Amino acid sequence: MSAKKSNPAPFGRFFLPGPTEVKPAVLEAMLQPMIGHRVPEMEDLMGHIQPRIRQLFRTERPVYIFPASGTGAMEAGLRNGARRRVLSLVNGAFSERFYRIALATGLKADALEVEWGQAHTADMLDGALKRGIYDAVTVCHSETSTGVLNPIDELADVTRAAGDVALLVDSVSGMAGAPVETDAWGLDWVLTGSQKAMALPPGLAFGVAQEGLLERARNKADRGVYFDFLEYEKNLLKNQTPNTPAVSLMFALAVQLDAMMEEGVERRWERHAAMARRTWAWVDELAEKGVKLEIMAPEGARSPTVSAIRPPAGWTGPKVVAAAQERGFSVATGYGMLREETFRIGHMGDHTVDGLEALLGALTEVFTA
Ligand SMILES: *Cc1c(COP(=O)(O)O)cnc(C)c1O
Repeated sequence: MSAKKSNPAPFGRFFLPGPTEVKPAVLEAMLQPMIGHRVPEMEDLMGHIQPRIRQLFRTERPVYIFPASGTGAMEAGLRNGARRRVLSLVNGAFSERFYRIALATGLKADALEVEWGQAHTADMLDGALKRGIYDAVTVCHSETSTGVLNPIDELADVTRAAGDVALLVDSVSGMAGAPVETDAWGLDWVLTGSQKAMALPPGLAFGVAQEGLLERARNKADRGVYFDFLEYEKNLLKNQTPNTPAVSLMFALAVQLDAMMEEGVERRWERHAAMARRTWAWVDELAEKGVKLEIMAPEGARSPTVSAIRPPAGWTGPKVVAAAQERGFSVATGYGMLREETFRIGHMGDHTVDGLEALLGALTEVFTA
């Protein structure tokens, strides 16, 4: 396989739940020549990015931008903001990863697990926090392995009521696709990655820490170097970063943020909700034709950005992926232990309902041929 794809397909064929399809204008932005990272041009670029990305995150706090994938920002939240014992809400592969990272950073952690494919409730969290032994909670907003959306606003209310407990939110496949109100919901640490609903290439992770979490970081000597929030905070005052930023990706981010501001954050959320509704309706339409598919997540707890779907009898995740590929479309197998049992559509990023319609048409052919 050559490193360069000579004849790229037109936009609208690549429906993985990460990395997602990137628009040509965003890719082209990365062809700009390098600039140094302690020069006025870079400070201008950061100065352009910050107010816009804060609007996207619905925060007045600075948004840290790490040269890392999303997992880095998960670890960052734990290293800076968790002190002793963590409660990890686990309902799929990514929320389980958050739990494992907590253990791997030397913290004590307990998993509050519900069946994969289900959401957590405020009551469950409330019950667990009543034990009074936790100082941090990890949760996945949009569980990309199952397509389940957790009620972050309600979980945040319960966490805040429990006192000095920090809520660390993985919104990697939520942010920029599903509503997130960082400040209004009081999310102590909320993180995402570039390659999901933000529709950028992989390689950047983003996060916002509230003041209270920063105070924890100040008192934590073993918070590490690479993701030290205090260093990010200090450098952001000068529109700089502690280390060399991923310059090309920053060019792409600036262009993509302009496009997102032009669309409007709420309209972006609405477009994602419309794509999700279309996907669910399509499953119902196929049922009327006698083809039985099933959305894994229950109604009321479905992510607007990704659907994990059980295919009809006789199909597996990999078989669906191969059949879609023959028709020129990329979808994903199930994730981890759900690989065979499900396939996944990433209806997120810069896709449209019309573009999705073309994919669903091809999948209808696949299942009715
Ligand atoms: C993609 C994803 C991640 C992070 O994955 P990286 O490969 O490290 O970017 C974390 N959580 C969720 C929910 C994800 O979808």
